Amino acid sequence: MAAHDAWALVCRLFSGGTPVLRGTLSPHHVAALSVLGKAVKPTTMDQSFVLCPHCQQHRAQVWGDGRGGRMCRCPDCGPVAVEANDGTALALDEDWLRQKMRLALGIESRDGIDDLGDGVWRLGDARRSPVLLARDLTRVLQEPALLDRVRVAGGDIRVITPRPRTMRGSPFGPGVEWLALEERFTFYGGGVVLVGTPSPAAQQTVADPATPVYGPFSADIKWATLPDISGTPIRFTDGQAKVFEAMWSFKGEATTAERIMRRADLDSAKPSDLFKIKAKDKGKPEPAAQHAAYGALVVTQQRAGLYSMPCATGALA
Ligand SMILES: [Zn+2]
Repeated sequence: MAAHDAWALVCRLFSGGTPVLRGTLSPHHVAALSVLGKAVKPTTMDQSFVLCPHCQQHRAQVWGDGRGGRMCRCPDCGPVAVEANDGTALALDEDWLRQKMRLALGIESRDGIDDLGDGVWRLGDARRSPVLLARDLTRVLQEPALLDRVRVAGGDIRVITPRPRTMRGSPFGPGVEWLALEERFTFYGGGVVLVGTPSPAAQQTVADPATPVYGPFSADIKWATLPDISGTPIRFTDGQAKVFEAMWSFKGEATTAERIMRRADLDSAKPSDLFKIKAKDKGKPEPAAQHAAYGALVVTQQRAGLYSMPCATGALA
């Protein structure tokens, strides 16, 4: 778990691009610091402004209190003493990250790393594919000229960025492969490794099994993308997926539990049986999300004993 937390912290620090106060880190991230070694370093933040230590709501200017101490003047709280350790901050050694990313990708080109400005770097060429690391995917999407600057004949461009909260599938067209920093890389053995096998250069989109194909459902119905319930796609059990697949085949038409369960080839009496949260799973996020997904997708006419899934209305497949 420590390596996982360590990588999550690296990604958080990289996407933020500024030091964070040690006091704002979760216990997991604090524990991960020892694993990361010198990749994350103590640093000083701009000490002329601090987040008000009392309300944590306002950035306030810092003054000497005339007795050797410091205080800030918060618009809500008034004068608040600022302890020296309020400013203990940590920063990612981004040069460490870029060098380790080069190693992870097998970039051996002799040319160094190019800083293209505003949080975008050209790490080098991995098997004739230029690789860009960017702090923010939006910046690359909004400035296509960045890609033109690094494009080479006969080689796809790889763009690595932290995953935006609301992104699914691939944001780029042919010729550009996008890799989510959090998912395609991890921290291992003091360095960075690429997770799984890299997609062949010919493959132009990131294969994402959760990509919605049937309404909110993935191609195999094992995932649903429901942003109101979960920021990440919800994964279903095999039984749950069979229920949704059967319900999808009724194209939004209301039908009985018996017909649905027969088509799903399951022994339970009702579709909802598969989505009950077991006592041992109370408080676990996955069963809760599965249960909420069922509630959001399935309409039950209690008295008539009929079930329907409106999102499948008009479905062709
Ligand atoms: Zn305050």
